[in-house]
Amino acid sequence: LEQTNQGVVALYAELDERSAQLRDANEAKSRFLANVSHELRAPVTAIIGLARLLLDPRSEPLTAEQTHQLQLVQGSAGDLLDRVNDLLDLAKAESGRIEPNLAPVDLAAVFGQLRGTLRPLAKPGVELEVDEPPAAELVSDDVLLTQILRNLLTNALKFTERGSVGMAGRVEGDQLLLVVADTGIGIPFAEQRRVFEEFHQVRGAHQAGGTGLGLPYARRLAGLLGGGLMMVSEPGEGSTFTVSLPLRPAPAEAAPGPSSVA
Ligand code: ADP
Repeated sequence: LEQTNQGVVALYAELDERSAQLRDANEAKSRFLANVSHELRAPVTAIIGLARLLLDPRSEPLTAEQTHQLQLVQGSAGDLLDRVNDLLDLAKAESGRIEPNLAPVDLAAVFGQLRGTLRPLAKPGVELEVDEPPAAELVSDDVLLTQILRNLLTNALKFTERGSVGMAGRVEGDQLLLVVADTGIGIPFAEQRRVFEEFHQVRGAHQAGGTGLGLPYARRLAGLLGGGLMMVSEPGEGSTFTVSLPLRPAPAEAAPGPSSVA
C-alpha cells in the first residue's frame, strides 16, 4: 500500500510540474504574440501614412495607374493593420493585461451605438433588429462589452444572406443575458467546438475576410468581465450567441490574474 501511495504522490508531483510547464509555455506564447504584433504595428502604420501622403491632392500629381496602385497598397496595409490589432488585442486579453474598468453601464447607449454603426453592414434583404435593452442595473465595462457585442453582430451580419440579425437582452437571476441571433448559414456541427479556438475558421470562411481571432477574443473578454459566451447553431438555419454577465461582478471575478484566465 505504501508503494502505491508513493506512486500516487510521484504522479501528482509530475502532473503539477507538467501543468506548470504548460502554463509557462502559454504565457511565453502570449508574450511573443504581444511583442510581435507590437513590432509589426509601427512599419504598417508608416506604410499607411506614406501612401496617404502620396495620395494627398496637395502633393505632386500621380498618373492614374500610380494612383490605383497606391490605393491597393493603402488597402492591403489597412487590412494588415486590422489583423495585427486583432492579434495584439487577443494577446493582451490572454496575458491579463486588460483591466476591466467597472462602472454602471448605460445599456440603452450601448445598444443604440451598435444599432447605428452596424446597420450599414447588413446585406440587402437582411434586417438588423436591435431590441430595447432590459431596464437592468448593470455594473461592467461598457467599452469591453461593446467590443464583445460588435464582434458577434459583425460576424452575424457577415454570415447572413437573408432574414435577420437580432440582439436582445434579459435578466435571469443575478445574470444579464445578451443574445445575438441570426438566420444565417450556421456552423457545421463538427466545427462548433472549434470556432472558439484561435485562428480557426470554418472551411471557406476566410473568403469572407477575418482572422479567426474574433470569437476567442470575445470569449476571453466575457471571462474578464466575470461572465461567459455560449453558442448554439443549426447548419443552414442560423446561430445564436449568448453573452452572460453578472449584474454585479465580484471584484476578484472581474479581474483575474493571468493564470486564472486560462
Ligand atoms: P473570423 O470571423 O475573423 O473568421 P471568428 O473567430 O469571429 O473569426 O469566427 C470564427 C469562425 O466561426 C468564422 O470564420 C466563421 O466560420 C464562424 N462563425 C462565426 N460567427 C458565425 C455566424 N454568426 N454564423 C456562421 N458562422 C460563424
